[in-house]
Amino acid sequence: MSKRDYYEVLGLERGADQKEVKKAYRRLAQKYHPDRNPGDETAAEKFREVSEAYEVLADSEKRAAYDQFGHAGVEGQAGGFGAGGFGGAGAGGFSDIFGDVFGDIFGGGGARRSPNAPQRGSDLRYNLELDLEDAVTGTTVDIRVPRHVECERCDGNGAEPGSTKETCPTCGGHGQVRMQQGFFAVQQTCPTCHGSGQMIKVPCHNCHGEGRVRETRTLSVKIPAGVDTGDRIRLNGEGEAGLNGGPPGDLYVQVAIKPHPIFQRDGRNLQCEVPINFVDAALGGELEVPTLDGRVKLKIPPETQTGKLFRLRGKGVKPVRGGPPGDLLCKVVVETPVKLNEHQKELLRQFQDSLGESNSHSPKKSSFFDGVRKFFEDMKP
Ligand SMILES: [Zn+2]
Ligand SMILES: [Zn+2]
Repeated sequence: MSKRDYYEVLGLERGADQKEVKKAYRRLAQKYHPDRNPGDETAAEKFREVSEAYEVLADSEKRAAYDQFGHAGVEGQAGGFGAGGFGGAGAGGFSDIFGDVFGDIFGGGGARRSPNAPQRGSDLRYNLELDLEDAVTGTTVDIRVPRHVECERCDGNGAEPGSTKETCPTCGGHGQVRMQQGFFAVQQTCPTCHGSGQMIKVPCHNCHGEGRVRETRTLSVKIPAGVDTGDRIRLNGEGEAGLNGGPPGDLYVQVAIKPHPIFQRDGRNLQCEVPINFVDAALGGELEVPTLDGRVKLKIPPETQTGKLFRLRGKGVKPVRGGPPGDLLCKVVVETPVKLNEHQKELLRQFQDSLGESNSHSPKKSSFFDGVRKFFEDMKP
């Protein structure tokens, strides 16, 4: 897949500064945000492209690598955009390629991921249980998702508006300090600024310097008709806010269908059991069976055996990925009568007598006993 130039994606000149990068990203991300373009695949693709371009150009290390080596320089860095799924930013890429080259020159610190670099927010997963009917017809559900969002008061940088960040006094802005341990000098992440090299003088009153705040948002999720247990609906950019101005992660809605009192689902087919009495089974008749869109009549031929499957074409589920709807399979179960009075029992005895010794009225029983006889005959020496 050939990728567009990241500057071109954001509509920027090569020399654009960080402010311009952020501004361009915000404008385009708002324009193509999935919330504003529901169901629009082109917009979703644009949103991904814009987010990826921003993740690279907003990070001075990645941007330098990109300027020098193009897409190959940042391959694997803009993680989580593929169909892969969970796991946040891809690891490896940059340090694998440049670690050996720069490692010696910069004393191992060169390829380190800067704590100030924009980081994509984590993906979130929401488990959604659906009734079978809703899954078959499709629906819209409101879900409440607790997550971190960028603090609006400080634009996510953690400093109270009007105040500035100052250089960390402990490490002098390097983010690393040298510790003397016996004969060895060990380089460590600065404990005061945690490697960022900067101190927030007045933390933002809203987020207390974190740059993100926890918020529970209600999202309206469109469930397409035909979804099944295990299907996943992705909402671009609805995951956790990124760090240091990085793009947000995605939200995955994981679908599970609740058990249904009548129907079992098997892919595009539905199954149900229909009890019938043994007189109907013997003489044949008409049966009312349930389907997802009302009752239908089912003709039962005479001499119907228990366990027989009747297929109602097209009364199953239309699959979410397209194709014709499946079938409804009705399995008839012949019931033994209960709570018989003396008169009824007498009628059954008369009926039994009328059958005589012959097994010809019970096809399964006769073939069963034929099998048994043969079995014992084979055992004779
Ligand atoms: Zn420090
Ligand atoms: Zn804040």
